Amino acid sequence: MKISDLIAKERRRQQETLMMIPSENYTYPEVRRAVGSVLMHKYSEGYAHRRYYQGNEIIDKIEDLAVENAKKLFGVPYANVQPYSGSPANATVYFALLQPGDKIMGLKLSGGGHLTHGHPNITFSGKYFQSTQYDVEPDGRIDYEKLEKLARTENPKLIVAGTTAYPRILDWKKFAKIADSVGAILMADIAHIAGLVAGGSHPSPVSYVHIVTTTTHKTLRGPRGAMIMITEKGLKLDEKMGEKIDKAIFPGLQGGPHNNTTAGIAITLEKSMGKTFASYAKAIVSNAKELADELLKYGFNLATGGTDNHLMVVDVRPFGIDGKTFAIALEKAGIIVNFNTIPHDPNPPFRPSGIRLGTPAVTARGMGKPQMKQIGKWILEVAKNYSNEKKLKSIKLQVKSLCKKFPVDLA
Ligand SMILES: *Cc1c(COP(=O)(O)O)cnc(C)c1O
Repeated sequence: MKISDLIAKERRRQQETLMMIPSENYTYPEVRRAVGSVLMHKYSEGYAHRRYYQGNEIIDKIEDLAVENAKKLFGVPYANVQPYSGSPANATVYFALLQPGDKIMGLKLSGGGHLTHGHPNITFSGKYFQSTQYDVEPDGRIDYEKLEKLARTENPKLIVAGTTAYPRILDWKKFAKIADSVGAILMADIAHIAGLVAGGSHPSPVSYVHIVTTTTHKTLRGPRGAMIMITEKGLKLDEKMGEKIDKAIFPGLQGGPHNNTTAGIAITLEKSMGKTFASYAKAIVSNAKELADELLKYGFNLATGGTDNHLMVVDVRPFGIDGKTFAIALEKAGIIVNFNTIPHDPNPPFRPSGIRLGTPAVTARGMGKPQMKQIGKWILEVAKNYSNEKKLKSIKLQVKSLCKKFPVDLA
């Protein structure tokens, strides 16, 4: 089969199913055009107005715009838009501000942290740095007093505050107090919630932390990419922090920036400034709350008992199934989620007790509370009929007809 046919098939899949993996989203048609544009032909190692290649007059303007938009949107004095993605952005921060073997402290993967937050043995963050990790409590929440004790005993050089499967507001103030009391650099990784922060639906970490990393493709709805931002507080701690980050990206870790992505980021950030985006962010959260309420009503257990943001971690054991079996059944019904560990999961990560689902993409299609109620009902039906292929197929048809009423521009 030709790639063009496969792309057409994938476009149809995205149009006709419910994208409920909380890290996924539909970007804007303008962004897709920018990312697929001639900008990808250009090499521009270095930074705007100080490149190692000629012919970058226009690229410089594009990167300047992306940086300016980032500073304006998040209220920071420094931004670098060149990281290829979220994981390289985090790597850059560690390599810029730490020495190999220095100690970092982040949230455990199984508690909702990210691989790059010091996951032991198999990641660069756990191999090239000493890592000590905090966990969530059995109820799914971070215990900040416990975190403080661990920080005092372990004395990490850098603390990561940020999550990939945590349904509650992060208390930046408490993180800051802890980091300051042990003299650690505090990094907020807002990859998942950047859109909520930009839209005013999650508190911003900017006045509390030294450094912020984020992806641009999750709630922010941009192209796959990432940014590193330094706050006033960060520059106060180390006025050379910006220079160190720039150098760690290039020549430290990367070669030429992906200028097509940079343009997509510039467009995305501009779109994130207005009232329309703020309403979108608000709707993501109210949709998530609505769906969480429905699932609780139907007898699912939710980590922390609900959600304050765009996602929920659902324990599906009350229905006598595991998360993987359930995720596969949901896919057959046109509802796309990922299986996920629940806090202190007794089951292994490849067959955990839960699923993770979120509302950024369905909200981008314009769906609201009535649709969340309907989706909740379907999720219940799938749980009760997970091995009934005929039933799953009939739900898939109903999902398809709902999607038809909320089309998304995928041209
Ligand atoms: C998604 C994510 C990343 C990594 O992003 P990639 O673009 O997949 O490398 C890093 N940190 C957090 C918290 C994330 O959710």
